Amino acid sequence: MDGAIKGRISSFQTLGTLDGPGVRFVVFMQGCPLRCACCHNPETWDLSGGKEYTAAEVAAKAERYREYFGKDGGITLSGGEPLMQPEFAAEVFWLCKEKGIGTCLDTSGCFLDEKTKRLLEYTDYCMLDIKYSTDEKYRKYAGCSISQPLGFLDYLNANGIPTRIRQVIISGLNDGDDNLKSLAEIIKAHPCIERTELLAFRKLCASKYQKLGIAFPLADVDETKQKTVSELQEKLEKIT
Ligand code: SF4
Repeated sequence: MDGAIKGRISSFQTLGTLDGPGVRFVVFMQGCPLRCACCHNPETWDLSGGKEYTAAEVAAKAERYREYFGKDGGITLSGGEPLMQPEFAAEVFWLCKEKGIGTCLDTSGCFLDEKTKRLLEYTDYCMLDIKYSTDEKYRKYAGCSISQPLGFLDYLNANGIPTRIRQVIISGLNDGDDNLKSLAEIIKAHPCIERTELLAFRKLCASKYQKLGIAFPLADVDETKQKTVSELQEKLEKIT
């Protein structure tokens, strides 16, 4: 690996604190095969969008913020879906690890092929979305089978990769007790999960959809109150 491989990137965020442990340099990669109804970044869907960078350029950008990373922080590849460009992502992580920078993959877990497994060899930490707890909802509101992220999670567990689960709570879709119970079962079966974050559904992204001329599927659904999310988070912690 020489860092020359090119990848398409939507944007960068310096000093992020929400996308992995500690302070992160976050890379929003271009391309996603899913079409989540609650997606906040529809501008990243098209793999031919964004701008091209070499893996070496991305690793060098991350290195500039090294002094802020401390012992927990580092680079996060997010998106979009980083697994759409697995060879590029693997090379960015490999270069970062050579420089002593921690690596975090933020993914929907929609692929688990050999290229993905190679990327996971260089992944210190994973942020995995478990969006719903039934296959029906996954297929309808995300565009893949629930077996894909669950299979991905099994692999993370088998390989001892520390993982944070995230779930956006959407009124009427996954805010019920049945969803919480299923999520708790998933958490208990995977000791690699060190934390689960429930997040409130927000509609700040509606203007992005308008700009792109794409219908926002959840335009008529109310935003989720933080109080509801906090109550669910508390309940979840009691049953896990
Ligand atoms: S996986 Fe992420 S980027 Fe892709 S559609 Fe879903 S929320 Fe959007």
